[in-house]
Amino acid sequence: MERPTGQVLAGSKALIVGIANEHSIAYGCARAFRELGAELAITYLNDKAKPYVEPLAQELGASLLLPLDVSKPGELEAVFDAVRTTWGRLDVAVHSIAFAPKADLQGGLLNSSPEGFSVAMDISCHSFIRMARLAAPLMDDGGSLFAMSYLGASRVVPNYDLMGPVKAALEASCRYLAHELGPKRIRVHPVSPGPLKTRAASGLKDFDLLLNEAAERAPIGELVDIMDVGYTCAFLATPYARRMTGNTVFVDGGVSIIG
Ligand code: NAD
Repeated sequence: MERPTGQVLAGSKALIVGIANEHSIAYGCARAFRELGAELAITYLNDKAKPYVEPLAQELGASLLLPLDVSKPGELEAVFDAVRTTWGRLDVAVHSIAFAPKADLQGGLLNSSPEGFSVAMDISCHSFIRMARLAAPLMDDGGSLFAMSYLGASRVVPNYDLMGPVKAALEASCRYLAHELGPKRIRVHPVSPGPLKTRAASGLKDFDLLLNEAAERAPIGELVDIMDVGYTCAFLATPYARRMTGNTVFVDGGVSIIG
C-alpha cells in the first residue's frame, strides 16, 4: 500500500524530543511530520550525542537544533524560550524519551531502589508533564502532545519490570492532561509501539526474544518500524483525528489484542 503523501501539516510547528540516532522512534516521527509539511525543532541530549543528531536535523531541514537533558534544571525552559522566540507558537510536541539506571532496570521491580525508581519516573514520565505545561501556552490554536508508552504499562511483559509502572503512570498522566487541556483543544496521545530495535531497547534483558515473539504473535505478521509510529503520530496531529484524545493508541501490528 502507498504511504500517505501531501502536506496536511504545512505551516505546523513541531518539537521533537528523543532523537539519539537514525533508529530512534523520534526520528521516524520527525520524518513523518516533515513529510506532511511541518517545520521541526529537534533536540539532542548533550555534546556527545550532538554529532549523531546534527546530520539528521540538517537532512530534515530543522529550523531549530537545541540541547536538552530534561534532568538539567533550565534546559527544558530554554528549549521552549527558543521555540517562542523563533516561531511564537507551537502545534505539536513529541516526547520520545525514557531512562532507568541499568541496575534498577535489570534487577526486577522487587529490587528497584527508591532513587532508581524516582529517576526513571522523573525522566520518563514527569518530564512529559513539564513539557505539556510549557507547550500549552504556545498552543493558542490547539495542538497535540505525544508520549511513547509500551504494552508493559497494562500487561506484565517479562523483563520490562520497573518500566511497567513508569509507563502506566505516563499513560495515566496523558489521560489527566487530555482532560485538563481538552478545553484548549490540545489533544494528548499516549502512543504504544510494538518492540523496535533501538538503543533504549538494547538495555532490556532478552529483548531479541520480545522481538521474535511480537513478530510471531502480530496478526499483521510483521514487526513495526519507526515510520509506522511516525505516520500514526502525524495522522493524530491532523484535523482528521480532531476528536481523538487521551486513549492509548497501539502501533503494534495487533499484538496487544492477543490474549
Ligand atoms: P532511543 O534510545 O533511540 O531514544 C531514547 C531517547 O531518550 C534518546 O534520544 C535519549 O537521548 C533520550 N533521553 C534519555 N534520557 C534523557 C534525558 N535525561 N533528557 C532528554 N532525553 C533523554 O530509543 P527509542 O526506543 O526510540 O525510545 C523512545 C521512546 O519510545 C521511549 O520512551 C521508549 O520507552 C519508547 N518505546 C520504545 C519501544 C522499543 O521497543 N524501542 C517500544 C515502545 C516504546
